[in-house]
Amino acid sequence: MKVLVINCGSSTFKYQLIDMDTETVLCSGLVERIGEQQGMLSYKGHPGTDRERKFTLEQPFPDHRAGMNAVMKLLTDSEKGVLKSLEEISAVGHRVVLGGEAIRESCLMGEKEKRIVAELSELAPLHNPANLQGIDVAQQLLPHAPSVGVFDTEFHSTLPAKAYIYPLPIELYEKMRIRRYGYHGTSHRYVTQQAAAFLGKDVTEINLITCHLGNGCSITAVENGKSVDTSMGLTPLEGVMMGTRCGSIDPAALLYLGTRKGLDFPELEELINKKSGLKGICGLNDMRDIHAASEKGDEKAKLAVDMFCHSVRKYIGAYYAVLGRVDAVVFTAGIGENDDVARAEICDNLEILGIAVDAQKNAVRSGSPRDISAPNAKVPVLVVPTNEELAIAQETMRVLSMQ
Ligand code: ADP
Repeated sequence: MKVLVINCGSSTFKYQLIDMDTETVLCSGLVERIGEQQGMLSYKGHPGTDRERKFTLEQPFPDHRAGMNAVMKLLTDSEKGVLKSLEEISAVGHRVVLGGEAIRESCLMGEKEKRIVAELSELAPLHNPANLQGIDVAQQLLPHAPSVGVFDTEFHSTLPAKAYIYPLPIELYEKMRIRRYGYHGTSHRYVTQQAAAFLGKDVTEINLITCHLGNGCSITAVENGKSVDTSMGLTPLEGVMMGTRCGSIDPAALLYLGTRKGLDFPELEELINKKSGLKGICGLNDMRDIHAASEKGDEKAKLAVDMFCHSVRKYIGAYYAVLGRVDAVVFTAGIGENDDVARAEICDNLEILGIAVDAQKNAVRSGSPRDISAPNAKVPVLVVPTNEELAIAQETMRVLSMQ
């Protein structure tokens, strides 16, 4: 069975076609700048397939439908494509960001489910409308293939009330559902399963602190395989410092900027989402560039790295206290998987918690799950590559098998 995985943003979408019999990626790519004068489609046929190649196309894509149409054409192109017919696609798995309290599990996206996702757009205006658009277009272009929604929030549906209710007037939760939802759930769940397999433990008995550190960053406390606390909140802005997002700050700072300095809501939104985090401190948001600048003596770049690592360490400490017993600390996503310098700094001086990183093991680069902890450390520190697309495809298969 072949599953097409779609992850839509407002002017982009990522796609990946996976043969689920062998869990092999047949091709993947990205459509960018949808709605702009010139759009771009990148396509990568994967190594090991007989259509292994990589190229980009530049042309306007007025909307998601046009972009998706171009991808469908490529998939079945007689020279470049990996399919003879679109009928070979058995299902489409969609990343959907916010399922709220109404959708707590991956599900077939019928009219009722789409309506719920649309209603939740108010709380996730950057993501849910785009996700919904992807579902509509896929249903139009591939009417034979069921669409399954896999929600970023679903892994966190097990949070206890004490972790998800904000200390605001309770009516805001009761009437408006203002609460912590948590994000990156597909990744946290995937690395939880991978870490359990790596350690030879039953996933229902494992306690972990999972650190998804990419452009967006979130930390999750996993107890007996379930999310019991997580750093992102109502939106993906809360928690640790990120590439361009500030993470948790004193909310009164925004009130001050609004009431005393005259910044309006769109300006504040841009400030905390796009101009803050690593970028706000040193002008750069890619950790590779920041390390390079720091090595050249850029003090603000060094400060940005120190602040980032400090904010992750604080969550590790906090979630250690939440869990009591920790079977492993897990690093994943762009920074978590690749940045040995950040991992070492985050875990520095945590021997008291049984956490210590071995310098040599930490420096090894690999695409496989690995243990980088020091020989005598009580708590394994693991690097586990995430694979959200495969996780979405697996969930899609699971939902279909239950029909
Ligand atoms: P996203 O959250 O958009 O899915 P990724 O998980 O791919 O992002 O993470 C992207 C981030 O990973 C980049 O901003 C970059 O800072 C970081 N990154 C990728 N490779 C490295 C590396 N070798 N060293 C340090 N940071 C890296």
